[in-house]
Amino acid sequence: MFEKLNIDPQINEILEKAMDSEISTNEALKLMKTQGREFQALLLAADIQREKIVGDKITFIQNWNINFTDICTGTCGFCAFKKNSDDEGAYFLEIEEIVRRAKKAYDEGAVEVCIQGGLHQDIDAYFYEDILLNVKEEVPDIHIHAFSPMEIYYGASKSEITVEENLKMLKKAGLGSMPGTAAEILNDDVRKIICHGKLNTSEWIDVIETAHKVGVPTTCTMMYGHVENLSHRVEHLEILRNIQEKTGGFTEFVPLSFMHKNAPIFKQGISRAGTTGSEDLKLYAVSRLVFGDLIKNIQVSWVKLGFKFAQVCLMAGTNDLGGTLGEENISRSAGAVHGVYTPPSELERVARDIGRIPALRNTLYTEINEIKD
Ligand code: SF4
Repeated sequence: MFEKLNIDPQINEILEKAMDSEISTNEALKLMKTQGREFQALLLAADIQREKIVGDKITFIQNWNINFTDICTGTCGFCAFKKNSDDEGAYFLEIEEIVRRAKKAYDEGAVEVCIQGGLHQDIDAYFYEDILLNVKEEVPDIHIHAFSPMEIYYGASKSEITVEENLKMLKKAGLGSMPGTAAEILNDDVRKIICHGKLNTSEWIDVIETAHKVGVPTTCTMMYGHVENLSHRVEHLEILRNIQEKTGGFTEFVPLSFMHKNAPIFKQGISRAGTTGSEDLKLYAVSRLVFGDLIKNIQVSWVKLGFKFAQVCLMAGTNDLGGTLGEENISRSAGAVHGVYTPPSELERVARDIGRIPALRNTLYTEINEIKD
């Protein structure tokens, strides 16, 4: 395929294989290590696969994040968002305020609200249910994308119900889908260092598979660039691929590069200073080749990477720009400079400038409407 580029024949063979069949974790690892011309061939192969699988549209959604509290009993070492209840800036929104923001978002054109918060000591599964019931009563047509697997797990244990009972109750109350956050790196050795109090790998998988089983689709994520190595990254991709083969419940993959600046594990000298651009590109490209058409949508986080680099990533296998974000607190707390509301026209410009077609989508990618020039 890339013989004329005079690249390593072994890499050429893996790239050719990836075009129409599954590649192994070992092969994915070899791709993660490419440099120079082989690296460029990887990006091109991922872009060709992207075109074949989802075409030329670059999608995004009009959405609004509501982080209802930053007070959290968690101890994740990468988190610059959490506060103790007596810390300056600690807040806990009343349900009425959450509803007010959801209504405002809807009135301003949002089709989705993404609701997540810290693990506040006073909340349980019925608090999450209350949020859903109240938002749905006031804004029945908005899609509620809410609660990380950690929140689902936390709510269930606080209320002494099973994860399945919790998910069924929340679905009935209006939960449309869940963010597949809290995945970080799905490896327990890594988790012990960066988030030892959080649900472990098998518990994360269990919450996700249970959600898919009861009819709640989820996204999936990976937060990378802290203490993990390349093998952990490809093993993480393999875990996600296996879940998707089993359930088909993932709507998209959202790689999240580690924001080191204000993170405790960076300040303590435990982690690296985030990723480099080539690491990000390899992650996007390799994930496109590992997932093939199993997980069709791969999102670039412009909040973390900025618009200019997001454009480059869109030429390396990705096809989605996430949301317009009425409000974003978590990445900004961690030191990201982007993350405030961005009008669709700005995302449209990012897409058109690289010869692609901007399109507005809903959460589940069941509606994708091209924006006319
Ligand atoms: S990542 Fe979430 S669970 Fe962990 S400390 Fe931060 S807010 Fe709490």
